[in-house]
Amino acid sequence: MAKYYKERVSGKIKQQPETMMIGDKKLQPESMMMSYGYDPSLSEGAIKCPIFQTSTFVFKNSEAGKAFFEIALGLREQGPKEEMGLIYSRLNNPDLEILEDRLCLWDGAELGAAFQSGMAAIATSLLTFCRPGDVLVISQPLYGGTEYLIHHYLPEFGIEVVGFPAGVPTAEIAESVRERVAGRRVPAVLSETPANPTNGLVDIEGAVELARSLAQGGERPVVMVDNTFLGPVFQHPLEHGADLVIYSATKFIGGHSDVIAGACVGRREVVEKIRTLRTFIGTAAGPWTGWLLMRSLETLKMRMTAQMKNAQYVARFLSQHPKIKHVNYLGLLSEDDPMIAVYRKQCVAPGSLISFEVEGGEKGAFQFLNALKLISLAVSLGGTESLAEHPGTMTHADIDPAERERLGITPGLARISVGVEHFEDLIADVGQALDAVGSADGKVPAAAGPEVVRAGR
Ligand SMILES: *Cc1c(COP(=O)(O)O)cnc(C)c1O
Repeated sequence: MAKYYKERVSGKIKQQPETMMIGDKKLQPESMMMSYGYDPSLSEGAIKCPIFQTSTFVFKNSEAGKAFFEIALGLREQGPKEEMGLIYSRLNNPDLEILEDRLCLWDGAELGAAFQSGMAAIATSLLTFCRPGDVLVISQPLYGGTEYLIHHYLPEFGIEVVGFPAGVPTAEIAESVRERVAGRRVPAVLSETPANPTNGLVDIEGAVELARSLAQGGERPVVMVDNTFLGPVFQHPLEHGADLVIYSATKFIGGHSDVIAGACVGRREVVEKIRTLRTFIGTAAGPWTGWLLMRSLETLKMRMTAQMKNAQYVARFLSQHPKIKHVNYLGLLSEDDPMIAVYRKQCVAPGSLISFEVEGGEKGAFQFLNALKLISLAVSLGGTESLAEHPGTMTHADIDPAERERLGITPGLARISVGVEHFEDLIADVGQALDAVGSADGKVPAAAGPEVVRAGR
């Protein structure tokens, strides 16, 4: 039997490809989530990696401490046989190192970094590369928090932004982006695909091409993709030329709505720079967060697959319902949709986020949301439980109304993140809540939907 762990040489990780193989069979990520990067013999034989709830690590002797600092601070190169040890948990911790190694497997990344939140991952990544006078290029809409950071804070540091809409072929927007950049330095092209809440796609290869055309002096902008919605199971941006993949690990990776966390994985030289800034602004996640996310990664593929299957049933039900004007779901893209080719190229499956236009504008959407019984009214997504919200007045309330309309975030739009419940129960709940739409008092008419009893509430 092969050993399924890597030796951690150097604190950075020396890849040992043979540990990921049985004979000539390369193991799939889901097979390695329970063991990869962890050696039980180093922890009393415990099958699970313990929580290394410690702020600092004891050096064997002064010479070892000196050597660790020389390497960590880049004062000299690490020797080929030299082992790097742990120093202090703001730099790293076993729960984070093993988590980062496991996250890399899904995306085929060279190096990863875990953060206290998705916003910490995004902010640290942007601050690593943006400098005064730069123009950041972004797809729109982006996650509300990301938009806020970019529009309210970065301009005060002399960093401007040029946006392009998701859901439009990049070839159509490239010229306009180049015009608005007007020869200034572009540190990064950041896209979010599929976009929230419209499910509009950005062609990742197109974004890479755009970045190439914005290169200056042989230096190309870093191509960053917020892969929270489909990744890391159903979309792999690095395979399409991106340099950095960013996650809110609060969502699918954590998957149980019980932890706030973030991560990025990608090319070694890019992630190393981000990790260095992470050390000095202190945005690394703690050991308990690392442990929770490792627990979650063991069921990641099962959860995402079950949620995606449920979402297909729910989306189909919605698309046939007379009170729904249209449904944004990747599984319902039609053959003549300009985005179908992009979907086929870069998405493995349609995921579990659905947004849809309820009849009656905001009033109709609110009547629907207020009448839900099994599905909870809450923002966030990707957890085991289904959640519904109203983007126009909640997650995307900060966007200028005209801009919101342009992006397709209409008053009647509702969003559901589909969980792991039985799909028939979800459809029963959505169906009975739609019965309330358009009724005088917003209540479900007596003879309408089945009663869904909510255990424990
Ligand atoms: C939630 C989310 C974020 C922010 O993550 P936090 O963990 O809440 O900080 C960033 N991007 C996307 C797409 C998200 O859904």
